[in-house]
Amino acid sequence: MAQHEASARDDLWSWHDRHGFRRIVNVSGTMTGLGASVASPAVREATAAAMGRFVRMHELQARASATIARLTGAEAGFLTASASAGISLAIAGCITGLDPARAEALPADAGPRREVAVQLGHLCGYGAPVETAIALAGARTRPVGQSTLAMDHQLRGALGEATAAALYVVSHHVVHYGQIPFTTFVAIARERGVPVIVDAASEYDLTGFLEAGADLVVYSAHKFLGGPTGGIVAGRRDLVRAAYLQNVGIGRGMKIGKESIAGAIAAMEAWMVRDHAAVRAAEEATLALWASAIAGLPGITSRIVPDPTGNPLSRLQVEVDPARAGTSAAAFARALAEQDPALIVRDHEIELGYFQLDPCNLLPGQDRIVADTLAAVLRAGAAHAERPGDRARARNGGVDGYLGWLA
Ligand SMILES: *Cc1c(COP(=O)(O)O)cnc(C)c1O
Repeated sequence: MAQHEASARDDLWSWHDRHGFRRIVNVSGTMTGLGASVASPAVREATAAAMGRFVRMHELQARASATIARLTGAEAGFLTASASAGISLAIAGCITGLDPARAEALPADAGPRREVAVQLGHLCGYGAPVETAIALAGARTRPVGQSTLAMDHQLRGALGEATAAALYVVSHHVVHYGQIPFTTFVAIARERGVPVIVDAASEYDLTGFLEAGADLVVYSAHKFLGGPTGGIVAGRRDLVRAAYLQNVGIGRGMKIGKESIAGAIAAMEAWMVRDHAAVRAAEEATLALWASAIAGLPGITSRIVPDPTGNPLSRLQVEVDPARAGTSAAAFARALAEQDPALIVRDHEIELGYFQLDPCNLLPGQDRIVADTLAAVLRAGAAHAERPGDRARARNGGVDGYLGWLA
């Protein structure tokens, strides 16, 4: 183990250096813009083994279904390109059932039953708008309630002859008060005979939504599971089959390869035997190391905060008093990202004067790099004056990166 860790440490940057990519340490979480997560050797081997061979894809997806069923308690499941794709395919399956002609007609002709009811406070962006994933299926978003309050009668009133499905989004991005509790949401949808789809892309709870009555649940394979890029659709056998059928239509552009299916199966298998308590303990120790590295710095306060959706994961929140620290949280986040290696912090709420450090994607040896870099940068606040754009960078999400690419 020690030897393995030592060689992993030596090899931390050789790939970046060889290709001329800038070195980065990801303390922001599972971010698409940084390559989401890193896979274990077992996952990488499973992926590589599939690359050199042919296999019947339906057979491979049937194996994935069996693994998904064991992982989630679902009747069945399949894999697609991403969770975002999974949302579109799940909705499309609810619209067309097992009719291939109707599947081929999407998204242009979804027929009259094509509305998807979603609480307005759940219409967030996860890098792209939830509404876009709905629209790609040929469906129409039917918002329920107002942004910070959705009431039972509003959901009831939205469900009718035109409803194909009701979508429930679980995310730190959604509004966290005034929303309909999941069990109530399911009960109302059941009254109306409407299937419930849950976007649980980032949720460690792989069984709870199905146990509580969800018909289909969507997860990312490449987030906490540490698989290759992919989306997991799990749930009722009839709806899973209907969603899988969409590969003859809109699903074609959302295709997943054999290598990613093989890797995702290995990642799911690994998750079922992972020592979750040991991983958690190591993460907690890392947070304590970081907190002590910056303790007592002027204008800097840190606290350990729980994950907002209840995932078994804590983060270190670093709160900045600019008058005493010499600069703002936004300037610190930018300055940390300018170091070598760059420290990419979690900055969704930077305008509130803090950023967070997420330990879940650290590689061996990086805990100390983070501690040292943090201490050095946070100690030198006056050297990192806020620049125009420091706050907007976080607020504009990935858009600036796309506009700047090859510009
Ligand atoms: C990450 C995320 C998605 C998108 O997942 P991908 O697999 O990257 O497409 C969708 N919904 C939520 C809530 C997410 O957190």
